[in-house]
Amino acid sequence: MRLVILGPPGAGKGTQADYIIKKYNIPHISTGDIFRENIKNKTELGNKAKSYMDKGLLVPDELVIDLVEDRLNKEDCENGFLLDGFPRTVAQAVSLDAILDKKDKALTKVINIDVKPEILVERAVGRRVCKSCGATYHIKFNPPKVEGICDKDNEKLIQRQDDTEETVKTRIKVYFEQTAPLIDYYKAQSLLLNIDGQKDIDKVFEDIVKGLN
Ligand SMILES: [Zn+2]
Repeated sequence: MRLVILGPPGAGKGTQADYIIKKYNIPHISTGDIFRENIKNKTELGNKAKSYMDKGLLVPDELVIDLVEDRLNKEDCENGFLLDGFPRTVAQAVSLDAILDKKDKALTKVINIDVKPEILVERAVGRRVCKSCGATYHIKFNPPKVEGICDKDNEKLIQRQDDTEETVKTRIKVYFEQTAPLIDYYKAQSLLLNIDGQKDIDKVFEDIVKGLN
C-alpha cells in the first residue's frame, strides 16, 4: 500500500492515519518528522534544510523532494507507506510520481478526508482546551460536566487563539485553495479515494478500508 492522505485541518486526518498505519503495517511519513530526524542526525540534507530554517526562509521545493526521496528509499518503505503533508502542490505530486517511477512503483491510492468547510469551522470554534492538563472539549459535541471547567482538574478551559472564527476560516480557505488542484490531479489519474469525514471516526475508517480493498 503506497498511500497519500489529504484532509483539511480539523478533519480527523491524524486519527485515521494512526488507524491506517496499524492496520496495514506501513510507516507514517510526514515532512515534519523527516525534517526533525535529518536535522537531529545532522545529515547533509538536514544541515541544508536547517540553514534555510535558521534564516527564517522556506525550505526550497527541490530540497523537500530530496528529503522525501531519501526517506522513501529506506527499508521500512519496501511494503508501502502513508505520506502525510506531502505532496502539497501539483509540482510536488509530479516529483513524487517520478521518485516512485524510478523504483518501478506507483501510488496505490490517495485518500481524501472530505469535510465541509462550515463543519470544520463549527468543530474548531467550539473547541476548548484545559491550559493545565491539555484535555480538549467541544462545547457541543463533547462538553465538560461544568461549563468552562475541566472535568479532570477543575481548571479553567480556554479557547486557543488560532481557534477563533476568523483564523479558522482563513486557515480552511487557504487549505482548500492550495489543495483543489492536487485533488484534480489525482482524480484525473483515478487514484482519488474520496471519504466522507463527517461520519463517526470508526465509520470513516471502515469506509477507508472498504475503499482500499
Ligand atoms: Zn485539565
